[in-house]
Amino acid sequence: MSRQAAKKPVIAVAPVGRTPSEAVERLLPVLRETFRCDAIAAPRVSLPASAFDASRGQSLSSAILPVLAAAKRPEWERLLGVADVDLYVPDLNFVFGEGDTRRGVAIFSLARLHDADEKLVARRAATEAIHELGHTYALAHCSRSDCVMWFSNTLAESDRKGVRFCPEHEKELARNRRLPPRN
Ligand SMILES: [Zn+2]
Ligand SMILES: [Zn+2]
Repeated sequence: MSRQAAKKPVIAVAPVGRTPSEAVERLLPVLRETFRCDAIAAPRVSLPASAFDASRGQSLSSAILPVLAAAKRPEWERLLGVADVDLYVPDLNFVFGEGDTRRGVAIFSLARLHDADEKLVARRAATEAIHELGHTYALAHCSRSDCVMWFSNTLAESDRKGVRFCPEHEKELARNRRLPPRN
């Protein structure tokens, strides 16, 4: 008689472009805790040249998502890319990141998160990573400013909201991932 532990879902995290591998490594523990999963570092993904808009000096986040979708392995529940270039979508002057429910991939950038305080940068990166992964599990923006799914326009708002889901979003996340609710 053998009892096998239930296999944990895997969230893979890839450096995109020139992002240092350490930035990926630093995210793994908080993702394991937040998403009750195994979080692993994935191979580096190249920034597609077509994503760069020279007139804006920014990269189109939606143009990076297909590259991540192509790199995603079937055994990974999600693939998150960590970029270090400024990202945009056509109607906004910048975005911290973007998540895609259908393909199960997300991207966020460190470009606007930098600070002399490394701990603050790590917390900001965790906040953006969790927010964009939240979108890949079909979570919408939250009306509670202390929920990680709050839409931040500024870094100050991001710093204020922190890395936690509100109870409703925590429940919705578990439901959408077909996981039992947290005790
Ligand atoms: Zn969002
Ligand atoms: Zn919420």
